[in-house]
Amino acid sequence: MCGIIGFTGRLEAQKILTEGLAALEYRGYDSAGIAYFKDTGKISIRKTVGKVKDLLAICDDENNSTCGIGHTRWATHGEPSDVNSHPHFNKEKTIAVVHNGIIENYLELKAELQAEGYEFISQTDTEVAAHMVSKYYEGNLLDAVYKATARFRGAYALGVICTDNDQELVAVRKDSPLIVGLGEGENFIASDIPA
Ligand code: GLU
Repeated sequence: MCGIIGFTGRLEAQKILTEGLAALEYRGYDSAGIAYFKDTGKISIRKTVGKVKDLLAICDDENNSTCGIGHTRWATHGEPSDVNSHPHFNKEKTIAVVHNGIIENYLELKAELQAEGYEFISQTDTEVAAHMVSKYYEGNLLDAVYKATARFRGAYALGVICTDNDQELVAVRKDSPLIVGLGEGENFIASDIPA
């Protein structure tokens, strides 16, 4: 169980996300990644096995995104690898998810989703969350996250973004740490105070 950071506001998100992940390094991790909005209305994901410095090496020099999520992973389901690193996308790449914890009933949920045509590219329990939020998404991200997490057993902290609103960040937690920082014109989520 490792680190989550999320930001929505007016400042450059990539810098805040990567600095936040660096501040969570003490928790130990095997991979790191971020997702943020591109000005094209798409979500861009950068992720890699290794350390935050390895992530920085594949990030843009700068970008003007002001909302995003970041993750440091301590693999529980699926080996440490680029594809298993977070964030994870739904099929259409319109929803991105970071997750700390373990979704205990992920195999049963994965089988259900696969039977409905959802395709998985990673070995993680977390990818179930991305597809499950997608399955329930009908224009209201918070509602979809409520419905998806109602299906989960286990421990989770999740940060979720969707291309339909490039300033919205939805977070939820159960038995995994996650704190919320409410500011003026900007809000944060993080696994721990240093971030
Ligand atoms: N269970 C998830 C995975 O293996 C999240 C692990 C974590 O908390 O970092 O990818």
